[in-house]
Amino acid sequence: MRILVVNCGSSSIKYKLYGVQMGEPLAAGMIEGLGTAEARHVLETGRFRKEIVMPVPDYRRGVAQVVEALTEWGSPRLVGDPEEIVGVGHRVVHGGEQFNESVVIDSSVVETIRALDSLAPLHNPANRAGIEAIAELLPHSTGVAVFDTAFFGTLPPHSYRYAVPARWWREHGVRRYGFHGISHRYLVERAALLWDKPEPNLVSFHLGNGASACAVRRGRAVDTSMGMTPLEGLVMGTRSGDIDPAVVFHLMEAGLSVAEIRRGLERQGGLRGLSGISADFRRLAEAADAGQASAALALQVFAHRVRRYLGAFLTQVGRCDGVVFSGGIGENSVRARRMALGGLETMGLVLDASRNHGRGERRISTDDSPISIWVIPTDEESLIARDTARLVTAEQD
Ligand code: AMP
Repeated sequence: MRILVVNCGSSSIKYKLYGVQMGEPLAAGMIEGLGTAEARHVLETGRFRKEIVMPVPDYRRGVAQVVEALTEWGSPRLVGDPEEIVGVGHRVVHGGEQFNESVVIDSSVVETIRALDSLAPLHNPANRAGIEAIAELLPHSTGVAVFDTAFFGTLPPHSYRYAVPARWWREHGVRRYGFHGISHRYLVERAALLWDKPEPNLVSFHLGNGASACAVRRGRAVDTSMGMTPLEGLVMGTRSGDIDPAVVFHLMEAGLSVAEIRRGLERQGGLRGLSGISADFRRLAEAADAGQASAALALQVFAHRVRRYLGAFLTQVGRCDGVVFSGGIGENSVRARRMALGGLETMGLVLDASRNHGRGERRISTDDSPISIWVIPTDEESLIARDTARLVTAEQD
């Protein structure tokens, strides 16, 4: 029995194969450059690595490539017979108000995901294309949708409603949905195990190219920084995060088009926009060390926003058990954590400088810090695989 986890993005397919015991994946692969004549497909296992470049015009062809790689590449093959893949877990970005947990996919689920396209125009159509291709190529498998928004189904109305005309909410779905929910849920479940506390109170930060914070009370999300779309909240690689909404009409009145403003906020903002150098945190840290003032400023704005959300979310979780950092920046950057957490001893957060320099999953606060601080590397695929295995097993019973 095998479980396949698939993440269809706007121009890529990422996948991981798990055995029945879960644990570490048996293989991880990725097709980049989907829709082009020179797509790159890489598959890696503990034993071998294979890479090919070939045209992959669409998701169906991409998924066919994935099945071919799993059943034909390498010796011995990873999957002897496609029917061994009993479950396929799909990451789906937007589940709207309809999906608060992972579900077995049927035609009505696909239709509901389609109805949510307008809320996630870049992601949901790609996710759906992957679901449809798998249903065709692995018809015996059970498909499971795991939503990036579902963890935020527990947000109370005072946290998810915006103070805008109520009809915008009723007629246009304008509210906070939250994203990165698979990662935040993984962090909460992992923290619960590590801290031996089944329902922890915590603030989690997923700091990568996309970045978000989540306030968790008794194991449930009560607030998050991303909003109706993944544009709100923290400073990201190319996304602005929070701005005064009046900036939009100010720029429109100055003659900029909606498309230009959207590009500025989504693709040319964030660390890239501030620095004018790069969207990549590590590169900016190097540039700041080399004396480039705009890079140093970008890092400061990033850290300032993290601190702002940390302070705000500590007011929402009750007696806080811990603060968790994850994502490429949160896991790896000593400097980002130092900038975000330095000088907060009076708030009960005491960073331990030498633990901050370590690697991997660990506590990075001092032993006597009233609130513990942790680095927990996220693992969204393992959570998708677990949900998929659980729902496949429930189907079979
Ligand atoms: P992600 O989207 O989670 O893959 O995170 C990507 C971000 O993590 C980029 O801004 C990288 O520069 C940053 N990053 C990855 N490794 C490091 C590192 N060792 N130090 C600082 N930033 C890092």
